[in-house]
Amino acid sequence: MNGKQREFQNSLIQAIHEASPDGILVVDESGTVVSYNQRFLEIFRLDTLGLAKARKGALHGFSDEVLLEKALRLIREKESFLARVHALYADPSIQDVCEIALVDDRTLERHSTALWGTDHRYLGRVWFFRDISARKRYEKLLEDQSSRDPLTDVANRRSFFQHANEAFIRARRTVRPLSLIMIDLDHFKKVNDRFGHAIGDEVLKQLCRSAESVVRETDLLGRVGGEEFAILAQDTDLDGAVRLAERFRLVTNEQTVASGDATIRFSISAGVATIEHGDRSAEDILLRADKALYAAKNAGRDCVKHA
Ligand code: GH3
Ligand code: MG
Ligand code: MG
Repeated sequence: MNGKQREFQNSLIQAIHEASPDGILVVDESGTVVSYNQRFLEIFRLDTLGLAKARKGALHGFSDEVLLEKALRLIREKESFLARVHALYADPSIQDVCEIALVDDRTLERHSTALWGTDHRYLGRVWFFRDISARKRYEKLLEDQSSRDPLTDVANRRSFFQHANEAFIRARRTVRPLSLIMIDLDHFKKVNDRFGHAIGDEVLKQLCRSAESVVRETDLLGRVGGEEFAILAQDTDLDGAVRLAERFRLVTNEQTVASGDATIRFSISAGVATIEHGDRSAEDILLRADKALYAAKNAGRDCVKHA
């Protein structure tokens, strides 16, 4: 390489370091820091430690272990991160990409590749850290929008049935109980007719908020129709699910929604069913829960029946 080419190379490397949107860290074969850019310091909040201010190139010559220790305080799953870093150092031929969740809710994408000399000698590694938090938040928003009912903010029908089918497969494999509760508001048409659709909507929202006080973290509440809801109760047998439905019914009886001077009270009917030997899908349980719901309506409403 002649002098001009070398000058160009150096200038290119400097430009990449300065202008790259990624944090860049370069270490040699012994794990000593050879270079890094300002973005790297910002991403790992190392600029606030005074390391960079102390003197330009303050990290040069540091062992990457020191940096690793400082970076680790920001990383959520420290052990798996460390295991991956060690695996990459152990096998220079690995070139990989992974996502890293940080404790301050940022997400980084880490790329890494080895540096090879002309004689195929291992020279070190380059690490690139890209802040992908904005993209992650947007993806989460889209996912939420496609799985949540906009009025009540509970799972929508599509998402509920997807979860129910997955739970069915899991329950079959682990031989654990699984139950489903179908819920329908009683005489809801009358609420709409007397107080208007907007107040009807308030009742639906209130019903979902009150359900949240009875369902556990492992249960899933979904809106499966206009005024029809369902609860997926994992690891719950028929007795447990009937008790859950009964609690929901009683909590609902206590709820009110105001419309002018009027105080609206409402009730639910519920049908409960649990997984049985010959069931082929969650649909089979739902059909029985639906029949039980029908029986609850026929029995005068504001009650729970089971298959
Ligand atoms: P039952 O006790 O037999 O269930 O009587 P019901 O009046 O609740 O049943 P029906 O199926 O006749 O009526 C359901 C009503 O739910 C009719 C429909 O206008 C109302 N509904 C469905 N979706 C919504 C909604 O998103 N908002 C409001 N306000 N009402 C809705
Ligand atoms: Mg209905
Ligand atoms: Mg109804």
